[in-house]
Amino acid sequence: MNVHESEKIAGILRSRGYESCDNVGDADIIVLNTCCVRETAETKIYGHLGRIKSQKKQGAILIVCGCMTQQPFAAEKLAKRCPFVDITIGTFNQFLLGEYIDKFIHTGTKIIDIKQSEKECGEGEAEVIPYRTSGINAWVNIMYGCNNFCTYCIVPYVRGRERCRPMEDIVKDVDGLLKSGYKQITLLGQNVNSYKYMDKDFVGLLKELDSDERYRLKFMTSHPKDISPDLATVMANSKVLSRYLHLPVQSGSDRILQAMNRHYDRNEYFAKIDALRHVIPDIGLSSDVMVGFPTETEDDFLQTLDLVERVGYNNLFMFIYSRRSGTPADKMPQLEYSVKQERIDRLIKRQFKISKELALKSVGKTVTVLVSEKNGNRCFGKSETDAALSFESDSAAIGDFVKVKIKSAVNANLTGEVV
Ligand code: SAH
Ligand code: SF4
Repeated sequence: MNVHESEKIAGILRSRGYESCDNVGDADIIVLNTCCVRETAETKIYGHLGRIKSQKKQGAILIVCGCMTQQPFAAEKLAKRCPFVDITIGTFNQFLLGEYIDKFIHTGTKIIDIKQSEKECGEGEAEVIPYRTSGINAWVNIMYGCNNFCTYCIVPYVRGRERCRPMEDIVKDVDGLLKSGYKQITLLGQNVNSYKYMDKDFVGLLKELDSDERYRLKFMTSHPKDISPDLATVMANSKVLSRYLHLPVQSGSDRILQAMNRHYDRNEYFAKIDALRHVIPDIGLSSDVMVGFPTETEDDFLQTLDLVERVGYNNLFMFIYSRRSGTPADKMPQLEYSVKQERIDRLIKRQFKISKELALKSVGKTVTVLVSEKNGNRCFGKSETDAALSFESDSAAIGDFVKVKIKSAVNANLTGEVV
């Protein structure tokens, strides 16, 4: 999501005649697009700003935007610690960045403008034409914001309530992107399964995007509580959808899931995975898991390890719980850092073993790889179940769909041969 937002920022600047450059020292305008989902991301921002200060040329305009600035008092703290920042704006008015730049150039006066909700600025974000930098993949927002208020998460506070884009606008965007040669479209939203526009839901949107044109369709992120039973059928029958699902579980303990306000328990989660595998036996699965949520006991953590083992994810994004000011979990009893660190180490080790075993099992299978990179004659890409793969070919080009037989799996790195 942040990558795509940076593409939109680049689009705004390009439409005003600016070009991107490689070195901070050459830039007339520097934009730092921030994240605050975890504390580590936030601390890095200050480090970056210190470096930018020493590298930027005299008169260069320094802008900070993104979700870090949207937190209460964050802009004030930033102004105190980094008075050399020229423009600070929040997430809701980010699409107006061009106008803020004009104003700054015109007046030379520092700008700090954080809006409290999307209602103060209108919904212009979707109209920004991004400058796409993700190769054959194009990101398309289908919605903004989140209504879920998981107790650890800052997103609903800094991104506002859920807003869905009109289906016809999304379909038009996708058509246009396919006409300009993109081979993969990834639909974006904090909770895509709750997409609703008029009488259409998410599954309705996916059906609308099915096409005879050869491309790959992906989406993220899905919330387990909102996955509809028809999703598996649509995935199985679609000509374009990846047979892959990122379904963040966060924890394997019912007590912790409840404290997180996730609205499902481990058995419901298992039932959803079983239903998906019943229709798509080889579905690729990934998830987000957090360790060290307040009050998590060794037994809760063992339940997480057990769930991870039982599901058998191909890929797992593992995080140490990070306190976020203003969220309910921040006020709960916290764990020692050493406990969290020890648990994440165990989880990473366990998942590494699982990914390795699953990769080994895939040796001998023939898959269709969409080539996204090529270096000499080595091609890199992903299969229809989202397994990353490399193979040698002189003729295959970026954007081609190539049938490849998987020959080896070394530490979960797959290599194959063109069939
Ligand atoms: N809307 C998506 C993604 C939200 S942020 C979803 O619900 O899955 C991406 C991931 O960051 C989350 O799935 C969660 O695992 C992690 N995350 C969010 N807040 C966090 C926090 N306070 N500490 C650690 N990880 C966090
Ligand atoms: Fe955060 Fe939960 Fe919303 Fe995801 S669904 S963005 S984790 S509040």
